Amino acid sequence: MKSFTYNALPARVIFGSDTLPQIAQEIKNLGCTKALVLTTPQQIPEGELVLKLIGPELGAGIYSEATMHTPTDITEKAVARAQELKADCVISVGGGSTTGLGKAIALRTGLKQIAVPTTYAGSEASATPIIGETSGSVKKTQKTMKVLPNVIVYDVKLSLTLPPRMTLTSGVNAVAHAVEALYSTDSNPIIDGLALQGITAIARALPQIMHSPPDSESLFSARSDALFGAWACGTCLGAVGMSLHHKICHTLGGTFNLPHADTHTVILPHAMAYNAPYAKETMKQIVSALKDAGLAAESAPGAVWDLVKSLDGPMSLRELGMREEDLDKAADIASGNPYPNPAPLERDKLKKLLQDAWNGIRPE
Ligand code: NAD
Repeated sequence: MKSFTYNALPARVIFGSDTLPQIAQEIKNLGCTKALVLTTPQQIPEGELVLKLIGPELGAGIYSEATMHTPTDITEKAVARAQELKADCVISVGGGSTTGLGKAIALRTGLKQIAVPTTYAGSEASATPIIGETSGSVKKTQKTMKVLPNVIVYDVKLSLTLPPRMTLTSGVNAVAHAVEALYSTDSNPIIDGLALQGITAIARALPQIMHSPPDSESLFSARSDALFGAWACGTCLGAVGMSLHHKICHTLGGTFNLPHADTHTVILPHAMAYNAPYAKETMKQIVSALKDAGLAAESAPGAVWDLVKSLDGPMSLRELGMREEDLDKAADIASGNPYPNPAPLERDKLKKLLQDAWNGIRPE
């Protein structure tokens, strides 16, 4: 018997196709009257669509400067814009960067949030803001319910434009949440079930998305599976503690400014291999979930590596621009503050993990 404690985060999730028109009612349900729409500069058209759908009576305007790692100056400008427009809620339309801006605004102002995710990053389902700004170049996370979006609206149509490389890396980012949830010290059967469902959905969808003809039914169906998987994996991220893989990725993103989803994609098979001897049951479950997705999986880390390679994803830290001489510093930070992890955190072994990931070799 496995004893467990389960804490569910409150979540209202609307999932489907053509769900955007429901946002107006969701704003009213929250008791709000004026929404500021958040986007990156690249996704202004999607923001304008949402603004049009909610109409001038509920729409305050757009703030379109969301960017990676939630820099403080951008957040402060967005807060000023929200105050100037008398907004009482925000709608973040985009990936983890835009969701992160919505959370940073909520942290400072208490404004309600509707998240409309368009990648598979999963930030919308977690109460973890990224606070890169308070600690120099070291990226830290803190958990506070103040930042949890009140409503998540998934519209699969918005994910159709996600470019192939970002689709793959963002999908692996989601799988990473599920993998670490399965071997988390506070894992529980409910989240385990979601994690395995999420892994299968994404592992099945990624090759289908890459190989389906444009505008085909199979593409739409694979995109729907991937978005569902993203929700399932994001829920895992929000529900239980993450370990080594996320710690390394935060280090590489926060201190060495490596791109978020690409870094997750390169590191995941290596972090899994590091933990595999201490998480044998989890690795068996992952192999089985990958087989359910139609993949030939012998070892879980090897199968994830093969999937990324077969879809032309990033394979090494070297190709992401990491300098080899920085691997020691990264190993120091990743082994610095102890945190729960299946395998003991040994600095020299972590250095080897990073070196293998830098070289891009296939883990055992
Ligand atoms: P992103 O949000 O930075 O998006 C990358 C680019 O893709 C942006 O230009 C964006 O506009 C564009 N894009 C997004 N969706 C698109 C679509 N459907 N079609 C076309 N273009 C699209 O990337 P991301 O990987 O989703 O998010 C990364 C950020 O999220 C990082 O800062 C990371 O730290 C944060 N994050 C936080 C958590 C958390 O729990 N707090 C979880 C995951 C990620």
